Amino acid sequence: MKIGIDAGGTLLKIVYISEEETVYRKVSSLHIDDFIEELNREHPKADIRITGGKAGYMSRKLNHEVRHSIEFDATYTGLKHLMKEQGIHIDRFVYLNVGTGTSFHQADADGQRRAGGTGVGGGTLMGLSYLLTGVRDFKSIISLAKEGNRDAIDLKVHHIYAGDASPIPGDLTASNFGNVQPGDREKARHADELQAVIGLVAETVSTIGINLAAGFDTEDIIFIGSTLLDNDVMIDIINHYVSLKGMKPHFIENGEFSGALGVLLS
Ligand code: ATP
Ligand code: MG
Repeated sequence: MKIGIDAGGTLLKIVYISEEETVYRKVSSLHIDDFIEELNREHPKADIRITGGKAGYMSRKLNHEVRHSIEFDATYTGLKHLMKEQGIHIDRFVYLNVGTGTSFHQADADGQRRAGGTGVGGGTLMGLSYLLTGVRDFKSIISLAKEGNRDAIDLKVHHIYAGDASPIPGDLTASNFGNVQPGDREKARHADELQAVIGLVAETVSTIGINLAAGFDTEDIIFIGSTLLDNDVMIDIINHYVSLKGMKPHFIENGEFSGALGVLLS
């Protein structure tokens, strides 16, 4: 049995590969000690390879001889593998890993280069959602956000131009949360607030992706990371924003497992 682990700040992504099957699994990083115990107990002979911010912690506690990989290299190897499997043949692209934070990269025939990162990511989505609405669970946040409408919360370009011709599309967000008025604190619906939080994260990472792609002479922007998981609101906003700029967003199935898969392939 081979076990690849991407031990991230929020979630441990695990890929089990045996002769018979490949199994994908996620465990909250809060339960990292229980998971380590499980591996020591149930898979004492497994070939375990780890990447991610918590790889060092895990390998110190595991009884196994563990192999480490650099997170960015492993993720790229896994991503390329998934792209090939899913018939996405692009040689020059940018990709954003929207995890707890977001890391962005440029990739071509020579490999990947990490261009930078931002603290705006899935952790922002979780933290702001909880502080604003008291909703803590990821699935609850994304399903409630679907019922919301952020129009009254975000300020659009056409709100500012108020009927006059604007130099950029009026439907673009001029200021996330910028349309909040006195009294809204009492009136605002949680569903609307949650959709606006997702909008803030989605538009921020989209804008980074768009600029990165423009500077790298490509129109293909790939998004991975558990933040996108079943997150229709986020995916719709990214699709809309990126397409508006004439670029192509791509979402990779099981993309959040790129790192865990990549450690087993590299
Ligand atoms: P990093 O790479 O930044 O160290 P990570 O690898 O743990 O973090 P991901 O697993 O890619 O990050 O994404 C974490 C985000 O995914 C969370 O911040 C949250 O927005 C979202 N998410 C999706 N499913 C869950 C879940 N079951 N529990 C918690 N967060 C979830
Ligand atoms: Mg990660």
